[in-house]
Amino acid sequence: MRPKILFADKTHETALKLAQEFADVDKDFEITAEDLMKRVKDYDALVVRSRTKVTREVIDAGEKLKVIGRVGVGLDNIDTEYAKEKNIVVINAPTSLTVSVAELALGLMFCLARHLHHADRTMREGKWLKKDYYGIELYGKTIGVIGFGRIGRELAVKCNGLGMEIISYDPFLTAEDMREAYAKEVSLEELLYNSDFVSIHIPATEENKNFMDYKKFAMMKPTAYFINTSRGLVVDEEGLVKALKEDKIAGAGLDVYNEEPLSPTHELCNMENVMLTPHIGAGTQDAQIIAGKIVVEGIEKVLGR
Ligand code: NAD
Repeated sequence: MRPKILFADKTHETALKLAQEFADVDKDFEITAEDLMKRVKDYDALVVRSRTKVTREVIDAGEKLKVIGRVGVGLDNIDTEYAKEKNIVVINAPTSLTVSVAELALGLMFCLARHLHHADRTMREGKWLKKDYYGIELYGKTIGVIGFGRIGRELAVKCNGLGMEIISYDPFLTAEDMREAYAKEVSLEELLYNSDFVSIHIPATEENKNFMDYKKFAMMKPTAYFINTSRGLVVDEEGLVKALKEDKIAGAGLDVYNEEPLSPTHELCNMENVMLTPHIGAGTQDAQIIAGKIVVEGIEKVLGR
């Protein structure tokens, strides 16, 4: 008998097609919590993104469940402890977003370096401010990468291709790990003092809360830009605003915030030297295709086909 998979959140068509090769697939991307409780008992695998909450109750109701797939990285919406207790495998796709996030960090760097966001806005206002948008090249500049995991490393490789110098701080890795991806290991102080761009890629753990604070921003070059595509929690936003106001740094490119969605009345929204995006790091078609593929291939293995 073919196994049954329920896709409870919007998943890219390629993943559905792949799943149909070995399973009977149902999709209900708008399924309510109530309906999920009723229907989950018929399925061997449940696939979600972040919308559907896979609670202890859902797991209990899923009498036949052997595997839960999360098309993405974070597992906050799944009771993973309880799933483990019930011998249900949980699969996610931590590598799927790496390139997309690294490319967004680069995009923010290019925008800040050439004032692209302001140039576009003012042209639409009928202005031709050619002389105002005097920028810098990325070529030959130094990028300091804080956290040299999947995304930090991917960014380093891309920056190497652009002719940038790469320095990195990650106390959990060796200098050799960094050399392999063209980066030189440095202390945090050296990184902050010497970088033209500082890009942070560390996890949102309790220890990393407010990792970048006013004191650290003040150590950066006044001409340097700060990029955060990791998590809002790792930055003390008040400290960042103060550093920007006092011209301790030249600007910031941010995709993530202390509170999301960022309030339109937040001071950051009124600052000219800031480029903001609404947590779109993973928001590419490519990342979704890769994530779906990784999860479905994992499910196929668990179901033993
Ligand atoms: P990863 O686990 O592969 O790498 C994190 C690295 O940070 C590790 O090498 C670790 O040793 C290092 N690290 C931890 N604490 C540190 C500290 N205090 N100082 C220096 N280094 C430290 O993670 P990843 O996949 O590269 O993700 C990086 C960040 O990007 C995470 O915060 C993740 O949540 C975030 N992210 C954001 C988006 C988005 O949409 N903007 C999407 C995916 C991931």
